Amino acid sequence: MTHSPLRLKLDGDALVANWRLLREMSNGAACGAAVKADGYGLGARDVVQRLAGAGCRDFFVAVWSEARALADLGVAVSVLHGIRDADMAERPANARPVLNTADQVRRWRAGTGGACDVMVDTGMNRLGISVEDVAAGLLDGLEIETLMSHLACADEDVPLNAQQRTAFAALRGRTGARRMSLANSAGIALGPDYAFDLTRPGIALYGGRQRAEHGTIRQVATPQAQVIQRRQVRAGEIVGYNATFTAPADMEVAVLNLGYADGYLRCFSGKGRARAGDAVLPVIGRISMDLTAIRVDAAPALAEGDWVAIDYALPETAALSGLSQYELITGLGKRFDRSWA
Ligand SMILES: *Cc1c(COP(=O)(O)O)cnc(C)c1O
Repeated sequence: MTHSPLRLKLDGDALVANWRLLREMSNGAACGAAVKADGYGLGARDVVQRLAGAGCRDFFVAVWSEARALADLGVAVSVLHGIRDADMAERPANARPVLNTADQVRRWRAGTGGACDVMVDTGMNRLGISVEDVAAGLLDGLEIETLMSHLACADEDVPLNAQQRTAFAALRGRTGARRMSLANSAGIALGPDYAFDLTRPGIALYGGRQRAEHGTIRQVATPQAQVIQRRQVRAGEIVGYNATFTAPADMEVAVLNLGYADGYLRCFSGKGRARAGDAVLPVIGRISMDLTAIRVDAAPALAEGDWVAIDYALPETAALSGLSQYELITGLGKRFDRSWA
């Protein structure tokens, strides 16, 4: 147990409740979990252990170092970015590549082979082999556990969603794949037609809400920062770099151990909010690298060494800051003590 003046409170019950909700919405399909980028910044090992305990069996990371970091947990991990020559030697036994290109397919066939996953591009033009290559037999004879595709706009109501779904559904029976998987968090909310055999939520597990169907998804992560100093600022004095804030009246200010190097970016300058109990404490002036000033007249007892919670509900904070929910959650830095309750 370390004692950083900055911590990330993580609600394990909310994480598990979110996964259970997404599993129910998956309409009988298995529900996996995307834990790339260190579990969207919350700590992949902790996330995997909690979700595996709840019954989750399929985990997704981006690169092989992330799979190796989970190797001893004994869960099945799919590596979304596929496999390079350099990755062939150090593969944990429980990890499969998601083959994305014809070269990756050839590399996998030339190696010791075994079960793999395959990504097919159905219109996003990001990763994946083409539908035409599938039709031409590129995958014939491969031992495919999961055939996947990825939706480009599942958080919007656009015709491309149904087009991608139809293109993907047409591949059923065209490969030896045991399962098919299309939907991320937003895709799950598009309805049962999108669930296929396995869903792959990420952001909604961690408190992201992108569609009305995510209404009861709960917040998982709350940053908390300690007060380093409390001071009085006189009317007409300024606070912070470049004097962007001038006190309109005498006021009480607290300076927090939190800054843009922790992922609390400059866009929260003059906009963000902290809370001490019910008191709402607005950010004033510019966010510094390691420090943030808040107005604390509403919290007369708040003193040096006390903790405040930072408003960080993902949809609301995205709307306030202009950052995406993904950037908000993955951007939280290394100086937080991640503390699960
Ligand atoms: C990141 C990712 C997911 C999870 O997406 P969310 O929008 O976070 O639910 C699912 N599938 C693939 C291929 C991904 O890259």
